[in-house]
Amino acid sequence: MSRKRRPAPSLSALLAERSAVDLSTPLVNGKHCRVWTHGRFSDGYGRLRWNNLQKGAHVLAFKERGGILTKTKSCVCHHCDNKPCIEPAHLFAGSIGDNNHDRDRKGRGGNLGESHWKARLTEADVRAIRADSRTHMTIADSYGVCRHTVLRVKARKSWRHV
Ligand SMILES: [Zn+2]
Repeated sequence: MSRKRRPAPSLSALLAERSAVDLSTPLVNGKHCRVWTHGRFSDGYGRLRWNNLQKGAHVLAFKERGGILTKTKSCVCHHCDNKPCIEPAHLFAGSIGDNNHDRDRKGRGGNLGESHWKARLTEADVRAIRADSRTHMTIADSYGVCRHTVLRVKARKSWRHV
């Protein structure tokens, strides 16, 4: 007796299935936020395992709609400032500076460690990243962070206290 195997859901199906439009959010670019309803990173971004890597759900949503990250614009930022939001109309490629700007505006700057805006990483992650010999890009992908974050961790420009 063989049962038909259900084909693996596509990324777009997963993204749609695991999120819901939140009508209580303000309209940004004509749309309400579509909020991730599944697992989240400790800092609030949606988390999705895709191709065996833990990724930011907003990053996957951005790329799934054809969004492109470049060297200088390597972070997926939110127009709506709502981290679990994966509405493509609210996402844009920004620089580390744009993310920093976000942080400063929200008064979250200056903290150390896991309470910091980069708190997607834990101290254990930081140690693992420093010991990881894979490329920065691969490491960044597996932790769902920017390549620059990995660079900074490795160069001890951030997480210096670990
Ligand atoms: Zn949004």
